[in-house]
Amino acid sequence: YFQPLYSVKDNKLDGAEALIRLRDEEGNFVSPEDFIPIAEKNGTIFDIGKFVFTNVCDTLSKINLNDYNIHKIDINLSVVQCIQEDMYKQLIMIRNNYNIPSNYLNLEITETSTINSPEVLLKNMKHLEDDGIELSLDDYGSGHSNISYILSLPFKMIKIDKGIVWKAFETQRADIALKATIDMMKSLGMKIVAEGVETEEQSKRLIELGCDYLQGYYYSRPIDCQSFLNLMKK
Ligand code: C2E
Ligand code: CA
Ligand code: CA
Repeated sequence: YFQPLYSVKDNKLDGAEALIRLRDEEGNFVSPEDFIPIAEKNGTIFDIGKFVFTNVCDTLSKINLNDYNIHKIDINLSVVQCIQEDMYKQLIMIRNNYNIPSNYLNLEITETSTINSPEVLLKNMKHLEDDGIELSLDDYGSGHSNISYILSLPFKMIKIDKGIVWKAFETQRADIALKATIDMMKSLGMKIVAEGVETEEQSKRLIELGCDYLQGYYYSRPIDCQSFLNLMKK
């Protein structure tokens, strides 16, 4: 599935986040929040990661990109994938096989307190960055916020977690914290995406605070590939 992202600068939807969907035997969706942690433990995450990345490249390769308002697709990477030696080679190979320009791809990596191979993560990130693929820090503010993580890794984009976004509309203190966070990230030269935008009020405030991209049910829920392509056709 793809969930469109709204670009504030262009005042239109201009990309999406790819989100994996799995159905059980009865055809009901199983939440990725339930099966991704299991996949990370039993190693299936490597196949899932490859599947999603390949699927996005395949989708992009089958359309004439000039006919669509699609400038970037974000793909989630598990930290488990990122600490696998030479992970970058596989992704770059898939990208090359499908002939997708690297600037169409953005990888979202979740911040985490439990990285035991930071050198491997950094090496993978550097190689992907050299290839021209952009990297975002996902879920900022969800619990493992660590400023040294941001300073030591080459992130160009920060995704503010929906929990923090929602809190900012509940308490004044959280709003102050969100504003200061966005100001700091922008001063560091990073682009800001806010997720979980569900209302017009939230969207207005987040634009006022300087977010570059907004994502959430207010703009669109995650939708299947064909619906996404129909929506983005010029
Ligand atoms: P995430 O990366 O933070 O993705 C955003 C999640 O927030 C998605 O849930 C999306 O459907 C949901 N969301 C977006 N806008 C709104 C909103 O306005 N309101 C509410 N209530 N929710 C909103 P989803 O698709 O269930 O995915 C959950 C998590 O599973 C993702 O969180 C991500 O961490 C993981 N995940 C999903 N797809 C993949 C994948 O292909 N690979 C990996 N490694 N992880 C994935
Ligand atoms: Ca994400
Ligand atoms: Ca999130």
